[in-house]
Amino acid sequence: MKVLKDRLVVLFFCLFTVVCCVFGVQLSRRITDTAVTVTQTEATTKNYIKWVDFSVPYNALRDAMELDISTYGTERHLSWIDTLSYLSCKNGGKWSEYKSTQLDKLVEALGDDLMPDDLMKTNKYYRFHKEAFSAVLSGILGEYTKAAPDGNGGVKVVEGYGLKAYSPIAEGFGYSHYDDFGVSRSYGYKRRHLGNDLMGSIGTPIIAVEGGTVEAIGWNRYGGWRIAVRSFDGKRSYYYAHLRRNRPYAEGLEIGSRVKAGQVIGYLGMTGYSTEENVNGMTVPHLHFGMQLIFNEVQKEGTNQIWLDMYALVELLNKNKSSVVKDSESGEYKRVYDVFDDSYPDDMRHITTLAPTEITEQ
Ligand SMILES: [Zn+2]
Repeated sequence: MKVLKDRLVVLFFCLFTVVCCVFGVQLSRRITDTAVTVTQTEATTKNYIKWVDFSVPYNALRDAMELDISTYGTERHLSWIDTLSYLSCKNGGKWSEYKSTQLDKLVEALGDDLMPDDLMKTNKYYRFHKEAFSAVLSGILGEYTKAAPDGNGGVKVVEGYGLKAYSPIAEGFGYSHYDDFGVSRSYGYKRRHLGNDLMGSIGTPIIAVEGGTVEAIGWNRYGGWRIAVRSFDGKRSYYYAHLRRNRPYAEGLEIGSRVKAGQVIGYLGMTGYSTEENVNGMTVPHLHFGMQLIFNEVQKEGTNQIWLDMYALVELLNKNKSSVVKDSESGEYKRVYDVFDDSYPDDMRHITTLAPTEITEQ
């Protein structure tokens, strides 16, 4: 009976999605906004989150991130996961009406000694919102150790707190994008667009947004030359597709390879939409960038996948771009400033630099 109920819910959601597509992006967006973050009833009956709509706009992400960073290291650190979860519960997922004053009001309501958790003690959905936001955002902001220019042509190692994920596009390379999540695609079968397309020049170095393990690499009839990197905590899988014909990937990458945030993993291209390998099937060169959430391994494949609208996050990540240099012999690009953070396995917690390094205490 429970299985039947679950199937009915999934069926209903599929029908719901189809209806949204038929009536266009605007309507789909509005319905999505009111769908809050978590299918709460399901999350309570089974112990993992089944669905997440990530519709937080850029300005809300930016405001919450700035508050998080400015309170970090103080007696009351206001994590953006908590503040965004609070706002999401309060606005019923209607992020389209977000204003910075909503966050100011929250800070006011907290007074001197309360935390968002205290205000939401009796809200039964807050916990799920937090779990969902934590899964989406915990690889984006946090403590990091990284190499940085020392001002004398060398490199120093600094510890900091802030954006630790990178833009998927290397520093010095342009791109354009718009919020194209959910628009319909017709190659193969009718389906929704589950990512964000970043239009740029062929050969633009593609950067690992977050560190993790390569879990898929090679040809896919939709994505062309594509690579998927799973975060070390297993919650997020980043998908980079339509990479360059002939030389799609950075050297040495294979399934199981571990990469760091900011590392060059491949090159922008226009491959895909072909059962035959190495075919340029796109009309416009672009990176297809997606993020899949995984609360339970059954969500990795099949019909229960959770893909997020990455548009606002890509905008935010634009603030942290990885510097790269071209190797004149091989023509390959390499990152300049290495990083690591606490989520990395022990043997990856080291800094490798291309210039003489000085250790600086900050
Ligand atoms: Zn795409």
